[in-house]
Amino acid sequence: MKKTIIALFVLCAMVLSMSQVFAAGESALEISKVAAKPGETVGVTVSVKNSPGITAMILTIEYDDTNLTMEKVDFNIEDNNSFKMTSPTLDSGMKITWVNGLKDFEGTWLHATMTFKVSETAPAGEYPVKITGKLDASNTKEELVGFAIQNGSITVSVDSTGLNLSKTDLKLHQGASETLTATVTPPNASQSVSWESDHPNVATVDASGKVTAVSGGAATITATTADGKASATCAVTVEAHTYTGAYQTDAENHWQLCACGDQGPKTPHTFEWVMDKVATVDDTGLKHEECTVCHYKRSENTEIPKHEHILTKTDAKDPTHQEDGNIEYWTCTECGAIFEDQEGTSFITKEKTVVPKIPHTFAPEWSSDESGHFHACECGEKDGLTAHTYGDWEVTQEATASQDGSRKRTCSVCGYEQVETIPADRPVVTPPTPSETQTQPKPSASPEDPPKTGDFAAPALWVCLMAVSGLAAALTLAGKKKRK
Ligand SMILES: [Zn+2]
Ligand SMILES: [Zn+2]
Ligand SMILES: [Zn+2]
Ligand SMILES: [Zn+2]
Ligand SMILES: [Zn+2]
Repeated sequence: MKKTIIALFVLCAMVLSMSQVFAAGESALEISKVAAKPGETVGVTVSVKNSPGITAMILTIEYDDTNLTMEKVDFNIEDNNSFKMTSPTLDSGMKITWVNGLKDFEGTWLHATMTFKVSETAPAGEYPVKITGKLDASNTKEELVGFAIQNGSITVSVDSTGLNLSKTDLKLHQGASETLTATVTPPNASQSVSWESDHPNVATVDASGKVTAVSGGAATITATTADGKASATCAVTVEAHTYTGAYQTDAENHWQLCACGDQGPKTPHTFEWVMDKVATVDDTGLKHEECTVCHYKRSENTEIPKHEHILTKTDAKDPTHQEDGNIEYWTCTECGAIFEDQEGTSFITKEKTVVPKIPHTFAPEWSSDESGHFHACECGEKDGLTAHTYGDWEVTQEATASQDGSRKRTCSVCGYEQVETIPADRPVVTPPTPSETQTQPKPSASPEDPPKTGDFAAPALWVCLMAVSGLAAALTLAGKKKRK
């Protein structure tokens, strides 16, 4: 970045008082730090603090002349009873004269104000305005004097007006990741953005916009500009691993793989003895162990000693909607072999004895209870259980000062009616805390029990009302709040 150099030549021609009662504090030359927006003009001051006896000084200012234009320099020529600056000019041959009219140079003395115009296209950032090169300052004896220098700056901030993301929706397989790119407008605004995920358990996002899919589901990634004035979102859908296909096995476990290569959870084999050759009185048999899930085999060719089968009958059982049934069969208590005849001649596998359960038949019309409406099977199984879609409450009986009222609302889908008590408008009924209602149930209370009144009995009354609610199976706690 090209720098422009301005030379300020400061000369104190005359010192009326030669007394050297100079500054007690630290001596410094300070350039101010200011803030501006593109297109604005802004003043940057040069001040001398606790002068160490400067009578002449040349200083060179450096700044970025691509984005900053120095429009003018105003020198402080006011007489403040201490100093007077005369004939200041700004060019290579300029000469600034201070006349030190009094004894001291303590405190801060504004030396000059430089007016800069910030270009319309200046990128956001801090632009140094600093003293460069050797600072040449001398006292009345033309000796060089030293003091601290604090450089200044113009910090340009650009309001963001928009934010675009490289993608507004993103589909990722679990474990995959993709980096989103954010573009802030206008282009000279700070391009730095912060990232946030509303469901980090589904998808996370790091400081660079890299989205990583954690588990199946949906998440919204939000990017926000550094000044908070613009934001944008990306809807992320994460497809969870699905472990299908051939089983992978080792001696203890089986597992499946996702199409992406991810390994599913390992599950221990569930071994069962499988008969390969049935033993008889004259001949030995063979068996092995096999996992019922993945069919991994072990203990192959285990010999079954020759023996006479001792058979136990298992009666046939009809299947239900919930449970498999079985045909009648006989099992040998010695070797576990299964036969479909009581003579033990026709060997069958355990699977062949199973009669599969009967599928549910769900009625086409709606059934309902307090939990919602559903299609029912004769066995009690519910299909498509959905919460009721209630209309507005309708007061069926107004509550009075001494008598409870009631109200109802109806599900527009199945016609289910929810009825609720409106408590009588009694004075001073303090609702119990949730812990009281949970630890003091009174299931024996009935709707006929006249509720007690008064502060002391209030919790008991509430417990009573709750019990009524439970019995009616249609009342909710919400409606028990005192109504006007
Ligand atoms: Zn996968
Ligand atoms: Zn297995
Ligand atoms: Zn046997
Ligand atoms: Zn059923
Ligand atoms: Zn309903």
